[in-house]
Amino acid sequence: MRALTRLHTLDALDATVPYDVCIVGSGFAGTVLASELASAGVRTLMLESGGSLQRWFLDPRIKALAAYTVSGDADYPTLHTKARALGGNSNFWTGRCERYHPSDFERHAYTPGDNPWPVAYGDMEPLYERAERTLRVRGGEPSSHAAPRRHAFPRRTRKDLSGLRALLGHAGVDVDDSPTATPEHALRFFRLHKELLPGVLASPYVTLVSGLTATRLVRDGEDRVSSVEVRSLDGTTRQARARIFVVACGGIETPRLLLLSADERAAAGIGNAHGRVGRGFNEHPGVNFYAKLRHSRETLHLRHNLGRSHQFYDELRPEGLGSVLPVFIQSWAFPNHLIQPKLSDLPGTLAAFASRITRPSLYIGATIEMLPRDTNRVTLSQDHRDRFGNPIAHLSLDFADEDRRTLERTRKLIQGVFERLGADDLEEGELTWSRHHIGTCRMGADPKTSVADPTLRVHDTHNLYLSGSETFVTGAAVPPVLTIVALAHRLGDELVRRLQEEAS
Ligand SMILES: Cc1cc2nc3c(=O)[nH]c(=O)nc-3n(C[C@H](O)[C@H](O)[C@H](O)COP(=O)(O)OP(=O)(O)OC[C@H]3O[C@@H](n4cnc5c(N)ncnc54)[C@H](O)[C@@H]3O)c2cc1C
Repeated sequence: MRALTRLHTLDALDATVPYDVCIVGSGFAGTVLASELASAGVRTLMLESGGSLQRWFLDPRIKALAAYTVSGDADYPTLHTKARALGGNSNFWTGRCERYHPSDFERHAYTPGDNPWPVAYGDMEPLYERAERTLRVRGGEPSSHAAPRRHAFPRRTRKDLSGLRALLGHAGVDVDDSPTATPEHALRFFRLHKELLPGVLASPYVTLVSGLTATRLVRDGEDRVSSVEVRSLDGTTRQARARIFVVACGGIETPRLLLLSADERAAAGIGNAHGRVGRGFNEHPGVNFYAKLRHSRETLHLRHNLGRSHQFYDELRPEGLGSVLPVFIQSWAFPNHLIQPKLSDLPGTLAAFASRITRPSLYIGATIEMLPRDTNRVTLSQDHRDRFGNPIAHLSLDFADEDRRTLERTRKLIQGVFERLGADDLEEGELTWSRHHIGTCRMGADPKTSVADPTLRVHDTHNLYLSGSETFVTGAAVPPVLTIVALAHRLGDELVRRLQEEAS
């Protein structure tokens, strides 16, 4: 295994020639972009606030940097939703990689009327293929309900879903595989600091400095970002200079950094001339059900098997509601009392499943799409500041009527499936969250209704770009990383093209 041997120190900021590109953040959105730029020979500086995972767990000063406050009736948990560490949340994700459906990019009930997606599925298809290769996605033959694909997954699934398929076939449900990113060597999760960062750092074109928090983007009089102000934990303040800047700090910290960067010409923050920065936050809440089955013999495999169904994805949209993605897990007994304390803070389906299952049974849950609403937003806290004296982020998150109705209709859908299977003692678990932070700096053609243009350049700047799920127009019901990575590849192409054009 290659170690991260080429982390640099503060001296790297003294380079006499400015870097071509400075990327803030080393999660999927930052690292995949850096990898693209490195392979094109672009001099790239990466800045990361965190360091090793060990430091994230043991150093309370770093934990405190990721703190944010929450209000609203959605009762959103802040715990374990974001990390300050090399590789960002790739250290904790569960590897699920799903494409958005073609219908997600078309106008539907949740598409902001004045701000449709500026890309279509046809534009994304080749990018999804690249993203699946980057993440080494393993998957099986998709059903006709799943997002269409021209080629097979880079790796073939090893799962045997025949039991789940036979069982759910009794209820008229088609089961798809749940495509998953895989590491180079089996039996580990796909973690950026193991799979991608070593290769990125081996490039002579990439310099990564960790332990530096970006606190402000500094502009010259020309609407051009000239440097990013960074602070280290000991209070040292420096400036990092580059020709192009990319903020890739995640769906909560990216809008915060734009808001913190208010100056004389942009009193409400960079990119915020029309008050759009931070608005439209959405997530993937999930409902969770468990039951014993009369047909359970068909499902008694020794391995846990997880499948999804894309069959109901668009079913509620004609009613003005969101998309829905059910997930099925069949299993032998979990030693409930042993794992519950450890897993209780994990997101979504996994936590709910682990905390409930005590014998062979079937779990059906579903994540839903939330309505992107302007009032669900990230702002700067009025009361709390970080160690550098800057307001931390505040998230306001309420359920819309549409969210409640989508959740309720999804419950009915799942109950109907269990009914058709003749399930006994159906039990509902608590509502869960997926830790997906979406939509707070959306892309669009109109500067009045979006923060970044279709190339992901922040509207009122010449050289500032965003990378991450904060740029998504709608949240879909699928997890975001595959789309984050697809768009990071596209942004890499755009920056290389721009730098070449400027050089000629
Ligand atoms: C437990 C868990 C399971 C998940 N499972 C899945 C899944 O199966 N599939 C899926 O698609 N998604 C999943 N997700 C969500 C997924 O991990 C995120 O959507 C993804 O990591 C976002 O990538 P990112 O690069 O945009 O942001 P992040 O991964 O959050 O990375 C942002 C980086 O920026 C750094 N940073 C922040 N602020 C600053 C600053 N001011 N200066 C310098 N650096 C800064 C942070 O330290 C971090 O390293 C899961 C999330 C969690 C928590």
